[in-house]
Amino acid sequence: MIRIFVVFIALWAGLSPAVFAQALSGVALSGVARVDPARSGIEQTWLGRTSLRLHLSQGVPFRVFTLDDPARLVLDFREVDWSGVRAADLLAEETGIDGIRFGTFQPGWSRLVADLTRPMLPGDIGMALDDATGDAILTLSLEAADPQAFAAASGVPEDTLWPQPQPDMPQAPVADDRFVVVIDPGHGGVDPGAEREGLSEKLLMLEIAFELREALIRAGDMDVVLTRESDVFVSLQSRVAQAHRAGADLFVSLHADALSQGGAEGATIYTLSDEASDTATAHLAARHNRADIIAGADLTGSDDEVTGVLLDLARQETEPRSMALAQALVQGMADAGGPMNNRPLRQAGFSVLKSADIPSVLVEVGFLSSKRDLENIRNPAWRRKIVAGMARSIAAWRLSDQAQRELVRQ
Ligand SMILES: [Zn+2]
Repeated sequence: MIRIFVVFIALWAGLSPAVFAQALSGVALSGVARVDPARSGIEQTWLGRTSLRLHLSQGVPFRVFTLDDPARLVLDFREVDWSGVRAADLLAEETGIDGIRFGTFQPGWSRLVADLTRPMLPGDIGMALDDATGDAILTLSLEAADPQAFAAASGVPEDTLWPQPQPDMPQAPVADDRFVVVIDPGHGGVDPGAEREGLSEKLLMLEIAFELREALIRAGDMDVVLTRESDVFVSLQSRVAQAHRAGADLFVSLHADALSQGGAEGATIYTLSDEASDTATAHLAARHNRADIIAGADLTGSDDEVTGVLLDLARQETEPRSMALAQALVQGMADAGGPMNNRPLRQAGFSVLKSADIPSVLVEVGFLSSKRDLENIRNPAWRRKIVAGMARSIAAWRLSDQAQRELVRQ
């Protein structure tokens, strides 16, 4: 027998932002719900409505909201195992949804984000529980809305029961005299980054981050902090905030993207620019800075924080230090055998490089779109070499930076 224990008939008018959050009382909610892809999917139903159905191995608390510009539908769960589910299997033509992503948002929390081709708001939302099997079926219908109504109903709900987009991860303040390296493995969780041959940028970069931490700690006398230590989504803003909280002396973001055009290959080190210098770089910057949109978490107003005269002054001092760090990495990685990009030093407007007072670089250790680079990055022996080169670069930069600053002080 199927018991319907949560049904919402939504009246969206006047709700801003719209949110459905429900603790399912009387139901065992511990553990992870698995998605059955064969019995899940998105399809068009009567009167141009779109219906989404997720078949889960058990009931879990969930919430639904929409985000505008671009229009997205977001479902948060506690907690769903997506293994074996492919986005393409869930999607159908002409549903008003042309893209879907899912994964871990924060430990214990899962998220599904659907890209809407036109403004649509949730109508009926419900989770039905099968008493015999314990299975749960989440159904949700979407109805066309006019753009103004959609915009008014959209936004990240401010409820404290649910994870916020910028997790305030507790971090012990680090004593000032310690040298702190913050390593930022790109992407994570619901945002996989580039994907090739069953490998994902988010997991490869986590691996390299662990290896680089090892190498730096072995080099001695450094504290190393990672912006994430598992496959979770971390917003761009939180990555930068963590660097500040840790008292970072430098910030290194690790990536290995895929670029369809231009045949990009080889390691490339980026520092911050106001304007991206060429189209490939602009494309890459747009990709990275979209990470939070991909995950459904918006970086609203983050650019406002990095304006202001004081920050500009700090940046004037930091800029040449970031450049020197980038040059040291180009040198050290080339000495370790590279291979380097034909123009290994570049500038781009990446959001994670916008700390005014922390020398920051973004390293594309290679491109997953290059066969050669992909072979290297998946090869532990190559990684050992390149990571050792990066650690030597950082140690060398530290010495010359200290000497330089003492000179300035005299
Ligand atoms: Zn990336």
